[in-house]
Amino acid sequence: MSERPYIYDFSQEELAEQLRAWGQPAYRGAQIWDGLYKQLWAKPEEFTSLSKELRTMLSEHYRFTHLKPSITLNSSDKQTHKTLFKLPDGNAIETVLMRYDDRDGSQGRRTLCISTQAGCAMGCVFCATGQMGFRRNLSVGEIVEQVLYFARQLKAEGEHVTNVVLMGMGEPFHNYKASLAAIARLNDPKGFGLGSRHFTISTVGLIPAIQRYTKERHQMGLAISLHAADDELRASMLPVNQRYPIKDLIQACREYVEVTGRRITFEWALINDVNDTPEQARKLAALLRGLNCHVNVIPLNPTRGFAGKRSTRERVAEFRQILEAEGISCTVRVRRGIDIQAGCGQLAEAEGHKGQQPIQISN
Ligand code: SF4
Repeated sequence: MSERPYIYDFSQEELAEQLRAWGQPAYRGAQIWDGLYKQLWAKPEEFTSLSKELRTMLSEHYRFTHLKPSITLNSSDKQTHKTLFKLPDGNAIETVLMRYDDRDGSQGRRTLCISTQAGCAMGCVFCATGQMGFRRNLSVGEIVEQVLYFARQLKAEGEHVTNVVLMGMGEPFHNYKASLAAIARLNDPKGFGLGSRHFTISTVGLIPAIQRYTKERHQMGLAISLHAADDELRASMLPVNQRYPIKDLIQACREYVEVTGRRITFEWALINDVNDTPEQARKLAALLRGLNCHVNVIPLNPTRGFAGKRSTRERVAEFRQILEAEGISCTVRVRRGIDIQAGCGQLAEAEGHKGQQPIQISN
């Protein structure tokens, strides 16, 4: 790894401190912050608002990138783009850009699905990232730079990032501090300025972290990967359920909604004859009764790494119908980028284990 520290790992105060130590006036710090997060400059030479001397100092003291784009795949409809980034220590992560056009009522959303860890310790059976095991947490800068990388591309097209979901590789609440710090960084109105409500954190259900998040009263969206409505089935797919059973998880969700007044989302990957039965739908409805929530269901992408198959169209419709009849709002999500295996972890896994092509559902 480079000996120079990585500039995106520093807060504005820390950078200002460094500039003071170099004898620079305070406004230089604000200029650099603006250049990094508003102008989206990626190299010291682009900071034309600074003196040449200061630009040289920046390049001598800081590294401006940790992410090396290695493979980018574009879906045939050009709406989904997935990039594998190599990190300086040899690990790899993935980020996905999803474009939604105005036709589907999404008002031209440009959503980024970002990673918070290289690998993942949660071991969800249908997930390529889980199958890789845990490599390491990403730093604040490594999480932030994924967004800046795509923001630069969109800017060149006259567009911008509208939404960021922490649903890529890793469990964001297992890297709580860096994930929340990265959001705070991107939310900063003096910098990138993306509003809190444009972020969604997705968790597999780490109850202590949900409780902490509730206590801190964040304004970002919260999504829970549920996937099953009873402990036996859920534990067979998500090992975390052995530690944090459904009853306790839903209780933590109820507390979150009560304290924050915010709606919570549940994610459900529909797997044929596993969790798409009317019985599971009814159990789910009973579990969520009276809770201000929304359920997103998405048919599973068939994979080599996991024997489960996606639900049929009829089963998906029936599942949704049962929930809605019970007063639970439900959306069937459109599967995106199937032709580029947009499930996170696939590219990283393919790099590390040539020949295998497991696919995952992100949390
Ligand atoms: S689904 Fe999410 S939490 Fe589960 S193993 Fe994959 S990345 Fe980790």
